[in-house]
Amino acid sequence: MKIKDIFKKTKDFALNILFPEKIKCIFCGADIKDFETRPYCDSCAKENIFNVGNRCMVCDVKIKNHNIICDFCGHNKKKFEKAVCPLLYKAQAKNSLLRFKSDNARYLAYPFAKLIYNRLREENLDIDIIIPIPIHDKSRRRRGYNQAELLAEELAKLMNCETKNNVVVKDKQTKAQNTLTYRERLKNLTNCFKLKDKEAIKNKNVLILDDILTTGSTINEVALTMMPYAAHIYAAAVARDMVE
Ligand SMILES: [Zn+2]
Ligand SMILES: [Zn+2]
Repeated sequence: MKIKDIFKKTKDFALNILFPEKIKCIFCGADIKDFETRPYCDSCAKENIFNVGNRCMVCDVKIKNHNIICDFCGHNKKKFEKAVCPLLYKAQAKNSLLRFKSDNARYLAYPFAKLIYNRLREENLDIDIIIPIPIHDKSRRRRGYNQAELLAEELAKLMNCETKNNVVVKDKQTKAQNTLTYRERLKNLTNCFKLKDKEAIKNKNVLILDDILTTGSTINEVALTMMPYAAHIYAAAVARDMVE
């Protein structure tokens, strides 16, 4: 272990004693009473960080009242039937997701999974197996974990269903999607996912899980590999982002 890593671990440990994670708001860090029931504070509850209001029935993006489907889904049929994303990728939610992804804040997997679980129950979606979006081996070595797998483990416990890693693998290192335009994103991902275990999803209701849903092209590419085998394909992410 490098000196830098030892220093970071010691700092994390000390911070954890000073500020125990499970009594703090997951967005702003304020003290809260009951993490289990609601892991955020009153003032964050009032903030515009929840994905509510009229949304596309397929990809869960906010749309004008009276519309039922967004322009993107209207023009290009998605390979999944429906997505749920409880938060908006902005302000405090964005900071928490960045910490979850790159700052080792793994404890956020549980409260995030619970927010997704509540939405899935509202929608009455029946799920047999959760498939986390895979990351390339190189990214895993650099980061040490795949945040979508952590989410999937917590969500599977709540849903009382199965989760399996490596059903789909990413065998091509791609550019970071957030640096690209919509068209570049599609091209960047073409043929980068491979279905390795079709028996695991055969005739099952599959939920593809990621931390953030932006254009939906990553989930779409994974769904494409599963389409000939799965019964139904749904998607979920902690937060919904939009490409301008
Ligand atoms: Zn808060
Ligand atoms: Zn849509």
